[in-house]
Formats: sequence, structure tokens, C-alpha cells
Amino acid sequence: MYLKEIMLENFRNYQKLQLEFSENINVLIGENAQGKTNLLEAIYMLAMASSHRTNKERELILFGQENAQIKGTIGRALGDLKLELTLSSKGKKVRVNHIERGKLSEYIGQLNVILFAPEDLSLVKGTPSERRRFIDREFSQIDALYLHHLSQYRRILKQRNQYLKDLQQRKTQDDLYLDILSEQLAQLGAKIIMKRRAYLQKLGQYANEIHGGITQGKEKLSFQYVSEIENSLEKEVEVQAELYTKLTQQRQTEIFRGTTLHGPHRDDLAFIVNEKNIQIYGSQGQQRTTALAVKLAEIELMKEETGEAPILLLDDVLSELDGVRQTHLLKTIQDRVQTFLTTPGLSEITRKLIKEPKLFRISEGK
Ligand code: ATP
Ligand code: MG
Repeated sequence: MYLKEIMLENFRNYQKLQLEFSENINVLIGENAQGKTNLLEAIYMLAMASSHRTNKERELILFGQENAQIKGTIGRALGDLKLELTLSSKGKKVRVNHIERGKLSEYIGQLNVILFAPEDLSLVKGTPSERRRFIDREFSQIDALYLHHLSQYRRILKQRNQYLKDLQQRKTQDDLYLDILSEQLAQLGAKIIMKRRAYLQKLGQYANEIHGGITQGKEKLSFQYVSEIENSLEKEVEVQAELYTKLTQQRQTEIFRGTTLHGPHRDDLAFIVNEKNIQIYGSQGQQRTTALAVKLAEIELMKEETGEAPILLLDDVLSELDGVRQTHLLKTIQDRVQTFLTTPGLSEITRKLIKEPKLFRISEGK
């Protein structure tokens, strides 16, 4: 799939903008603070209906304005698609082919994106919650049911945490209701864990192949899903039962702490290179290579799961990678994936490796 054109109105520092893109590589060139990341953010929003850098939607509307709009035409194997997102103080609205979609799970997945920004290079080093966010974002795009279960899980988790606080403060004594919430949480939690394991297994295989290419076969990469629920429990019913047991056994501690201590909202992902966890033992270079391999592996996973290549947003990453990794990245995307790449200027390597990019010069939101 690819983004044919975009139209912005009052989005960040763009008052009005209409652009047509190349199916291959689009390069956004401009000095600092001109609107390069803002444009990538708009594309990301069109796909995910949320920003990758803020959850305060007010910030996305041009200063002094009330509404912002992003519209795009997506070229897909099955024909063109119009996506539309409107932001206002009343919230956001999304439309597909002019028809409003009430649920985000009916919207997300129409346009698939992979965003790669300098902070993604710290995927390996970062916090568990960053890795969970990465997992959830990627899998939500390829699996609407995963997203649906995830949002249900979050809703029940919030209710359960509130109820634990109520029990703690003795606003209620009734723990039958806690049982019901635990049961629902275990049921949804098991579904999430099963899907995460399955997709991570596939993603890990692609990542290992790509990683092997970058390190010339010297290093072997694998993923490990880190959870209190043993990976040896293979059936969904077993996972559910185990999670439910944990949720009931630790009741007193949970009431004391006023929060849910078990479930996929506390799980993590470990990257193993040559049998060592590289979050702990890896060099910075190894960690970056892994992060790059993971991003490129996502392209393959999305293709496998959806039948179409996603679009790739690269925000200032080239300058963060050395020559070998830059070359690997650019060779992988050339002719295969529609790419949007921001940069203050084109380096030697990029000039040599990017064939016929479409160039956009960005200055003060124009
Ligand atoms: P860099 O190379 O430094 O990353 P950039 O071109 O990516 O720069 P952006 O982050 O796209 O820069 O744009 C930042 C500019 O957008 C800033 O000048 C900021 O003040 C402006 N901006 C951000 N939000 C809004 C808004 N809601 N209304 C108007 N301008 C905004
Ligand atoms: Mg930027």
C-alpha cells in the first residue's frame, strides 16, 4: 500500500497543505523546527488515529484554531481508500471512504505504518513499558481483534484497580465483584499473551535473518517473551487458569497495594544475541543493530499478515546510524516500501543509494 496524497488543515504548524507523494522514497528536507516531524506525525495519525509523540490532542491543532483535519488517499491492492481524521475540542472523528467509524478498531489497520525515530534505537535499552507499547502498536495494526481485546483488557484493568482501591479504603467489603473482574481479566489477558507469543515468534525469525545480514552471520538474534506465566504453558485455557490463580492468590497484597500485580500489562520482551540478553550485556552498537533489525522485520511481518507492505516513516535516523547500517537500511527499502525520510540534508551515502527520490523542501509549515 502507499499514501498517494495528503491534505492538512490547521495541523501543527501547517495551515493548509496538499502534497502528492512518490510510491517509492520521499525525502523531506528542512532546517530545524520547520515542520518535518509534524508532517510525519500527520501521516502516522492518519494511520493510527493517535500521535506517536503526545496524547494531548490539543497540541496538534494549529495555535489559535479550533479544529484540525488530516485527509489522505491510500493506494491499495483492492483499490483506493480515503481516510479522514478530524480533531476538535469535542474529540476526534475518523472516516473511511466518508463513512464515520465509531470504533478505532474499525479504523486502524487501513493504512499500516512503521515509524522509526532516534528514540526507537533505544528499544532494547529502554523500559519494559516502552517495549510493551511497541508490541501493542505493531500487533494492533495487523490484528483488529488483538486491538479489540487489548482495549477491553485496559478497561477491565482500570475497573479492577479502582475496585482494589475501594477495598483498601474499605468503601466496600464485597469481593465477589473482584472475582468477576479477575475472571474477565484472566480471559482477556490469556488471549493477549497467546497472540503476543505467536507474533513475536514470527517477528523474531525475520529479525534474526535481517540481523544475520547486518552482522554478516556472526551473531544470532532471538526474542524471549518475558512473563510471569511460563511459556511452557502452551494452551490458552492453561494460561487463563494460571493467570486467574495468580490474581486470586495474591489478593491481599493487591488490595494492600491498590493495583493489579499480574497480567500482560506487566510483561516484557528480551532480546537475546548469542545466548546473552543484550539489554544487560550488549554494546551500544549491538543494541542499535538489533533495534534496526526489529524495525525492518516489522515490514516483513506486516506483509505476511496483511498481504501488503506498510509505509515506512524515518525521522532523522540516518544520521544516527553508521555507514554499514545506513546502507543496509536503504538497500532494504529501495523499490519495496514507500518511505518518508526526514533529514537536514542528503549525505554522500544517501545520494548514492536512494534512486530518484521525490524531494520536498519544508520551511515554516510550507
Ligand atoms: P527538527 O529538525 O528540529 O526535528 P522539524 O522540522 O522536525 O525540526 P517539527 O517538530 O516538525 O520540526 O516542527 C516544530 C515546529 O512546529 C516548532 O516550531 C513548533 O513551534 C511548531 N508547532 C508545534 N505544534 C504547533 C501547533 N499546534 N501550532 C503551531 N505550530 C506548532
Ligand atoms: Mg523533527
